[in-house]
Amino acid sequence: MSIRDFKAFIEFAYENSPAVRDKFAAAGLKPEDVRGVEDLPRLPVTRKSELGRRQQEAPPFGGFLAVPLERVQRIFASPGPIYDPQGEGEDYWRWRQALVAAGFQAGDVVQNTFSYHLTPAGFMFDSALRSLGCTVVPAGVGNTELQAQIMRDLRVTGYIGVPSFLYALLKKAEELGFASELALRRAWITAERLSEELRLLLREKYGVSVFQGYGTADTGCVAYECAEMKGLHLAEGVVVEVVDPQTGEPVPDGETGEIVITLMEETYPLLRLATGDLSAFVAEPCRCGRPGKRLAGVLGRAAEGVKVRGLFLYPHQVAELAGEFPQVRALRAVVTQRDFRDELMLETELNQGSEETPDLAATLASRAKELLRLRAQVVFVPPGTVGEALVVDKR
Ligand SMILES: [Zn+2]
Repeated sequence: MSIRDFKAFIEFAYENSPAVRDKFAAAGLKPEDVRGVEDLPRLPVTRKSELGRRQQEAPPFGGFLAVPLERVQRIFASPGPIYDPQGEGEDYWRWRQALVAAGFQAGDVVQNTFSYHLTPAGFMFDSALRSLGCTVVPAGVGNTELQAQIMRDLRVTGYIGVPSFLYALLKKAEELGFASELALRRAWITAERLSEELRLLLREKYGVSVFQGYGTADTGCVAYECAEMKGLHLAEGVVVEVVDPQTGEPVPDGETGEIVITLMEETYPLLRLATGDLSAFVAEPCRCGRPGKRLAGVLGRAAEGVKVRGLFLYPHQVAELAGEFPQVRALRAVVTQRDFRDELMLETELNQGSEETPDLAATLASRAKELLRLRAQVVFVPPGTVGEALVVDKR
């Protein structure tokens, strides 16, 4: 069960979870020192590696389990292995709120293509869908042709899974000549990047509205899209922070940082779980009227970040910069050091017919200053110089 009141949550977690007590002790704090969400950064983040180590030392849940084992319904093993409990309740992982925002409702027949084995995703959405009154087809992973046929035969109206498999199913239905007979109208996807190009294609060509959200095997639902499809609303039952991956301190709204989640759940009260995923807070209100900040989607992995002059530089920022200049064919950021000082060079390849002018170099550098908050030297390089990596650290 989720605990709504933050103070009550901290008290419960401290009282019942040895790992939580341990984290407080390590920080030299008592529960009364963490009275509100704003006090959370006083506690250190919990890395996946720490969770794994704690679980090996105190199996199976590393001392985070705060209820007797007989109240655990299922145990999952995610890669690591990291063990995750399913506590009591018909929608333990709280995904129903995300599916409601996407328009799923009673009477829908939904093909759930997440795995039902070892990892929790299959059961997560299965329970949320059934709590809504949807009929679930527990399809799991793979069997594209059979799944396409099932989609037609059962008049499936909704899809849950990753976007690439949805696309594969629809293409298969097309190949088999029955794409036009499908009743699929709505899809909810996660765990894989959704390009706006694919989202548009799925809507225009196949008539499927695609919604996405974000969560983890340990924490369930974290954030989800509404009908506006502009950023992810924060879910109930978790506290979400966006922090500097090195210090664990929150970054200002609009700045990229690592997503850190506190699960306000009595079964498994995880404190400040560092996900390794990057996002930024959007503070402007959403047109749908839901209150609070949103997450600007998942922007990459924190491990891809390189610290330059004290600031993190991420590949997605470099891609964004390049995307603003139609003349640019490819661009990469190269970090070097001279006289013990970090230097940033933007190696830029231009499209055929575009000219390497000082003006363009200056515009690129000034836009880089705004987007990356770093002074950079723009260097034009011949086609083929820039490889796959968008950020290269040569220090
Ligand atoms: Zn909204």
